[in-house]
Amino acid sequence: MLSDIEIAQTAKMLPITEIAAKLNIQNDELEPYGHYKAKLSESIYDRLADEHDGKLILVTAINPTPAGEGKTTTTVGLGQGMAKLGKKAIIALREPSLGPVFGIKGGAAGGGYSQVVPMEDINLHFTGDMHAITAANNLLCAILDNHMQQGNALGIDQRRILFKRCMDMNDRALRNTIVGLGGKINGIPREDSFQITVASEIMAILCLASDLTDLKARLGSILVAYSLDGKPIYARDLQVHGAMAALLKDALKPNLVQTLENTPALMHGGPFANIAHGCNSIRATKLGLKLADYCITEAGFGSDLGAEKFMDIKCRFAGLAPSAIVLVATLRALKYNGGVPKAEVAQENVAALHRGLCNLQAHVENMRKYGVPVVVAINRFLTDTDEEIAALSHCCEELDVEFALSDVFAKGGEGATELAKKVVEACEKPSKFKLLYDEQLPIKEKVEMIAKEIYGANGVNYTAQAEKLIKEIEALGKDKLPICIAKTQYSLSDDPAKLGRPTGFTITVKDVKLSAGAGFIVVLTGDIMTMPGLPRVPAANSIDVDANGHISGLF
Ligand code: ADP
Ligand code: MG
Repeated sequence: MLSDIEIAQTAKMLPITEIAAKLNIQNDELEPYGHYKAKLSESIYDRLADEHDGKLILVTAINPTPAGEGKTTTTVGLGQGMAKLGKKAIIALREPSLGPVFGIKGGAAGGGYSQVVPMEDINLHFTGDMHAITAANNLLCAILDNHMQQGNALGIDQRRILFKRCMDMNDRALRNTIVGLGGKINGIPREDSFQITVASEIMAILCLASDLTDLKARLGSILVAYSLDGKPIYARDLQVHGAMAALLKDALKPNLVQTLENTPALMHGGPFANIAHGCNSIRATKLGLKLADYCITEAGFGSDLGAEKFMDIKCRFAGLAPSAIVLVATLRALKYNGGVPKAEVAQENVAALHRGLCNLQAHVENMRKYGVPVVVAINRFLTDTDEEIAALSHCCEELDVEFALSDVFAKGGEGATELAKKVVEACEKPSKFKLLYDEQLPIKEKVEMIAKEIYGANGVNYTAQAEKLIKEIEALGKDKLPICIAKTQYSLSDDPAKLGRPTGFTITVKDVKLSAGAGFIVVLTGDIMTMPGLPRVPAANSIDVDANGHISGLF
């Protein structure tokens, strides 16, 4: 079989104007970026305001292996499969970050015969949203340092600066750094650190903002530092939120692209789910619901991270309610959860599979807590054996959960017809969607509910530093916000080595950060870091471009 990029490069793409026409998007609502990408103008929201909303379908997964388990691939394949059934469907995905593209995981535009295209553009610079977010983030940092240099009228305490610089790259050398070295004219020396752009509060704000006015207000509300006398300093105190919003004006518009089978795809915003809230923008999802009868969207990593935040953050803020949840499971991830080393997950091992099934069970039970019908999608790999698939099917029957074999990687939309039918049926069932917790509860109670109900923990420990930070947020009166937990994606616990369905554990909160602009409280557990590093052999080593601009090796 051809590689993902080879398949993508043989795609027969339609001009983006034709994809838009299928959705009845008017010419003046489309802002093409070349022939195959476009942004959608603000005016489309007004025109569609009174249209009825389609059904929202969330694609999530069990705990993954480091290679990813095919949520994006399944989302794309399901979008294509819905079209095969004659349904009007659109998918809403996140934009890829350069971190994974050049690191370990590769592109984030799907795989095999279920991809969004143009794949190279999408994985590299796309329409520039990621760069705009990085620029807006770093403008705030530059203005902050300059404010201190120019006399520090606000009395900013250089030891209590909370807002970090960012870059869309896996670069561990920037995790801890010192800026302002070189004497008086070069600034005030202080410790600083970088995070990856997809973990930046600016990314979260872009994904949660309802329009440009709301975006600007949220940017102004970013807590950047404390003053020497302990008062909070917000971005608006530095009068920089207007300029930041100006930088983000076009990034706020959703991007329209297409799948390999010429069905429509929105891609907008891209926070990671382990260190951020993990879903594409509210604006794209809401638009998708207006444009089609089914809007299929993905939340990152396992359901303990992405789906929990999708419901308790994104749906809470946007007033959205999913009609069905697709839970992607792979035999390799189940075997990995059953203790098989990463290098051996392709080999048949029914015993390990049985040991790992408890992980699937946990995710099914967790998703049912939200009151939404669940369909398990078995993402088929070439190496899967009949005996293993039978064991997994049997497990789904025992859990009394709908399931379908999904062969979208090898067959595109054709491989998703059974899944698409089950999902359509699930959407007709009564959904009694409810959130997990009341955001008015104290911070610790909210964290405990997520830890106990979703992770299966016995309780939560806090370091002295975390306790202090929680008190600070309470003192500011900003504790009545939803929680965004940063946690490893490999385990239901905060320890990546605890696979399967761990019990008898506690999680440890080491750091707590108020994202006052985004409107949530980030709670960091375990050893999770907001700036990833590169592996020994980065994917970048295999990527190349020839004299004609033809890119290879991008998975
Ligand atoms: P996720 O969104 O869950 O992180 P992706 O859909 O991005 O996962 O898939 C991760 C990687 O696995 C991609 O490189 C993709 O091409 C590959 N992949 C996904 N499903 C399959 C499959 N059924 N067979 C082979 N490779 C697959
Ligand atoms: Mg994905």
